[in-house]
Amino acid sequence: MTVTDTAPLITVGPSALETAQAQLATAIATLGYDTGLHQLLATARRELTVSIPLRRDTGQTEVLRGYRVQHNFSRGPAKGGLRYSPAVDLDEVRALAMWMTWKCALLDVPYGGAKGGITIDPRHYSAGELERVTRRYTSEILPIIGPEKDIPAPDIGTDEQTMAWITDTYSVNVGYTAPAIVTGKPVSLGGSLGRSSATSAGVVHIALAALEHRGLTPARATAAVQGFGKVGAGAVEFLAEAGVRVQAVSDQYGAVYRSSGLDHDVLAAHTRQTGSVVGCPGTDPLAPQDLLELDVDLLVPAAVEGVLTAENAPNVRARIVVEGANGPTTAEADRILAEADVLVVPDILANAGGVIVSYFEWVQGNQAYWWSQQEVDDRLETRMLTAWHGLLRSSQEHDLTLREAATVTAVQRVADAHLTRGLYP
Ligand code: GLU
Repeated sequence: MTVTDTAPLITVGPSALETAQAQLATAIATLGYDTGLHQLLATARRELTVSIPLRRDTGQTEVLRGYRVQHNFSRGPAKGGLRYSPAVDLDEVRALAMWMTWKCALLDVPYGGAKGGITIDPRHYSAGELERVTRRYTSEILPIIGPEKDIPAPDIGTDEQTMAWITDTYSVNVGYTAPAIVTGKPVSLGGSLGRSSATSAGVVHIALAALEHRGLTPARATAAVQGFGKVGAGAVEFLAEAGVRVQAVSDQYGAVYRSSGLDHDVLAAHTRQTGSVVGCPGTDPLAPQDLLELDVDLLVPAAVEGVLTAENAPNVRARIVVEGANGPTTAEADRILAEADVLVVPDILANAGGVIVSYFEWVQGNQAYWWSQQEVDDRLETRMLTAWHGLLRSSQEHDLTLREAATVTAVQRVADAHLTRGLYP
């Protein structure tokens, strides 16, 4: 079977921006900040919308829309991925940029938050077309990005090659090679060892810590993973390596199930061949929406925003949710899951492995001194687990959910930086 196309999954419910704003409002209420400070933190510092005229391989011109939103840079240069997806719009990019601010603050990497996006389905474009789109987009946003200003990275629909084109376009324009303009580059261009697997590795460090916290051993635990892309595929692999039985996995085309545990390598080979996990030998088909409601110990939503909603949250049977995606749980679903005593480890901690190793890449690039894979892996694990233990402590001390405690900590750090610097003029 070869999958060529399907309509994107349509999710109805609050938008990513509404979820992000609701989370911020809860944190602001807990911290007792005034309306002015709330407004400042709720509003992006800069938003750039660009049109991207593309010469298609047919010779015709098509005009695409692109965005770069810099939510906040009180703690350092803005940082965040670049997403190519048909679902991209300004509000989604605003939400994702805000989450980057909190993520960087929570993990104490010296960045603010940003995000970029282009409304495009990359599966329908040739490599040459994607290169032209990327280079034109880069040149349109050039005035606001830079190694000390705003540093893009991969996200859904973009990869190392995209980062290589951005590096080249930026470097040619400024007149010297500037590898620190992006992270998530190919290692041959100054990328970091361990960056491509960093998000998944971080998700699994946190998942194993959460299992332990709930008194479960990996060898007796079962899991379901939504998404088999950059984050989901690695999560399946590392969970299985740790002894967890990953019984179900999905992608945008469907889901598969195997009670005795899925084999990552077989799934990966099948996906390479056909473009999807659907029909993978040795598995049974599963309705994608049922994956979220499976009777497993651990659920890892590692695809897109807004998949756990008020509608399906009451049916979630997993005891632990570790958010590999950004914003997979709506505010209402969060409340339902908390009441049902489901431990939800929030995205801004759970998927922070990517930006942590992005930070390592930027540091290595700036110093022109490369770390070994072991060094990267060890430092990533230390940062993730230190943040996890700190978060557990603060949620217990203040009687908050992990998401509330994480957002409060992050918002407070950003507000402190802002207030210490003072308002100009
Ligand atoms: N796109 C990733 C995220 O959402 C990585 C961002 C980065 O490395 O800057 O965290």
